[in-house]
Amino acid sequence: MRRASFTLLACALGLNAGAQDPVTARAKAWLDTLTSPGFHGRGYVNDGDLIASEWIAGKFRQFGLKPVKQDFFESFQFNVNCFPDSVRARIDGLSLVPGAEFILDPESGSASGEYVLVHVHPADFQGPERRSMTMGVLTGKAACVHWPSTANADSTRMFKQWERELMDHCPVVKPVKKLTWGVATDARVHPLVEVVEGAVTDSSSRIILRVRNELRSRRTARNVLGMVKGKSKKWMVIGAHYDHLGRMGPDALFPGANDNASGTAMLLSLAEHFARKGNAPRHNLLFVAFAGEEAGLIGSEWCAVDRPIEWNRVTMMVNLDILGTGDDGITVVNATAQPKAFDQLVAINGSKGYLKQVKPRGPACNSDHCPFVQRGVPAIYIYTLGGVAHYHDVHDRAETLPLTEFGDLHALLRDFIQGWK
Ligand SMILES: [Zn+2]
Repeated sequence: MRRASFTLLACALGLNAGAQDPVTARAKAWLDTLTSPGFHGRGYVNDGDLIASEWIAGKFRQFGLKPVKQDFFESFQFNVNCFPDSVRARIDGLSLVPGAEFILDPESGSASGEYVLVHVHPADFQGPERRSMTMGVLTGKAACVHWPSTANADSTRMFKQWERELMDHCPVVKPVKKLTWGVATDARVHPLVEVVEGAVTDSSSRIILRVRNELRSRRTARNVLGMVKGKSKKWMVIGAHYDHLGRMGPDALFPGANDNASGTAMLLSLAEHFARKGNAPRHNLLFVAFAGEEAGLIGSEWCAVDRPIEWNRVTMMVNLDILGTGDDGITVVNATAQPKAFDQLVAINGSKGYLKQVKPRGPACNSDHCPFVQRGVPAIYIYTLGGVAHYHDVHDRAETLPLTEFGDLHALLRDFIQGWK
């Protein structure tokens, strides 16, 4: 809605009609940096996450944020499985493209060589005798699993369990509809290769694999924390995770534009706004760029335990994760537990006409607000709706992320933070 007036102005100034408002344009430049190959998908290969943390701390310094600890960093350690080298998979003479045609299960171990593919079905795992026979047949070979598609949670859990057992026995190949990657804190003996349907069939007979995993134990990651002083003794916490999945070797980069370079850019843009002279917030603001989210909310969990500030002085924690669209508005997670905050967002949005809708959702432990909620800190989590839906894949790129409502959402969050008591 605000875009209309800006577009008119842009036209009057002779700018192209698709030009973005200044807030979005600035965020877009940050997003381009965070998703650039030199940041390695803000994961663990080539220390992409640490490069990103240094860059974010530099921004905090430049904006004039103050550290709450001895510097801007809050370090912690966890185990992480990664794949630093080129990963190769070749089925019956056909090389598959890493990231686009296949990915490794994040818990994959190593494998090198040519394997005969044995096609297995659920029937091959019924009962201990059949199962041990199947395992016998698979020794020295690779299993290609054919599970029927199911929405049943028990079946899904059972298939997962069988896959884990197989990964400790031999390499595994699994046809999937969509390649969705992740981060694991543990590793199995052999790899599991997820292959797009069509690239592996019932009659595929051989696979050549070159996979090397590296389980890095107690690797250091760090949250980046900075504050802006307000006029009260209370606090608000604004959080967004900056880590993503990183790389599967040099060939497959997961840039994580929507998840969560977009939220990181929003965090920076709010930090810059409130640190500016004359924009002092009502409450002290703690800005936290979390690490280790994709590995299981490890950074936010650490921060919640570490207590860089007193949580009982926090009036609201706002978590920003996936803010790159907004064509259909936003969802507020934990809205039902924080009705006052939700009502306020709806009221501001109603009077200013920023977004199409502000939708409520119940509690969900699906991002960095969760460890705070669990410790009684009032918290909400906001994500955008509509537009592109690439998720945890190589297609979540800056070039295709529209940032449709970034400027309006920035304004809504700014007004909410300023008005929140
Ligand atoms: Zn995320």
